[in-house]
Amino acid sequence: MNEPYDVIIIGAGPAGLSAAIYAGRSKLSTLVVESNAEGGQIITTDEIANYPGSYPPESGHSLIARMSEQARAFGAEFVSGQVDDVCLDVEPKTVSFGGNEYYAKTVIIAAGAHPAKIGCPGEDILTGAGVSYCATCDGPFFEGLPVYVVGGGDAAVEEAMYLTKFASSVTIIHRRDSLRAAKSIQDKAFANEKISFLWNTTVEELKGEDFLESMILRNTGDGTLTEITGQFGLFVFIGTKPNTALYEGLVEMQKGFIVTDAEMRTSVPGVFAAGDARVKTLRQVVTAVADGAIAAVSAEKYLEDHSSPF
Ligand code: NAP
Repeated sequence: MNEPYDVIIIGAGPAGLSAAIYAGRSKLSTLVVESNAEGGQIITTDEIANYPGSYPPESGHSLIARMSEQARAFGAEFVSGQVDDVCLDVEPKTVSFGGNEYYAKTVIIAAGAHPAKIGCPGEDILTGAGVSYCATCDGPFFEGLPVYVVGGGDAAVEEAMYLTKFASSVTIIHRRDSLRAAKSIQDKAFANEKISFLWNTTVEELKGEDFLESMILRNTGDGTLTEITGQFGLFVFIGTKPNTALYEGLVEMQKGFIVTDAEMRTSVPGVFAAGDARVKTLRQVVTAVADGAIAAVSAEKYLEDHSSPF
């Protein structure tokens, strides 16, 4: 058996890279496993304007490249692979992919999440070009323009209210005739003069060459189609899907998100979680990197407290 790493970090988004920087700098032997390109969800974000120090705004790609270089400079190793199996309650823990098994004394799950998508034609190609899943990130780009918000839950309604700071008007498109959001949140939205509602409506198709130019809506009652054209933004908040299926039944979860304490400890000793995959209220780069740092420091503390039997 190969010598176990002090820590294997699953995921190389901001949370995983931050954990790698802290673990590497503490001279822990560190392996980062990433299934796709490093960077997670922010790799496709053109401008990150709300991460402290990222001003003038830089692209997600550039920010991630710098984080990754920093992690490597502190000695973290990187490997590409889609983790397909883990054993977390054994010593050492195992992380497997591509037919190879890697061993670790601690594991940090920083596998991230992805916003649920409408799944209509045009959505993928226009993401980042008029279609967004993050009001905090992209709201300011729609200053003075109309925006549409898809969804009827807490996130959609709260983010719609946030978007009224920038947009000339905000229209919530909901597939039913009543909101799922908490009553207190609904009341604030109904009282907001900038917010209106398109009930019993779904988005059928999004069109545009380089940027969102038109949107086809369907009335779910009578099936009529309406086309919205012009310069506008579309924000989609129909739930967040954590990338945690692999850990189901292995660590405690709530609605698919991993439960941690303030030290990022999961229900399994020596296993930590950081970033969007865990239960939390604000999913942003700034909170992901904070989680990653805390998880790495907690992993180091765990190693100090459990110096045997490794
Ligand atoms: P959510 O509560 O699951 O709501 C998702 C909304 O999207 C629902 O209105 C749903 O419609 C709609 N939807 C789902 N799939 C759709 C589709 N394919 N097409 C069109 N509409 C679709 O998700 P969330 O708002 O992201 O909230 C997630 C969790 O975080 C919730 O537990 C929420 O309470 C919590 N949260 C809390 C706060 C807060 O407390 N301030 C803020 C944000 C989020 P239906 O209603 O018809 O199902």
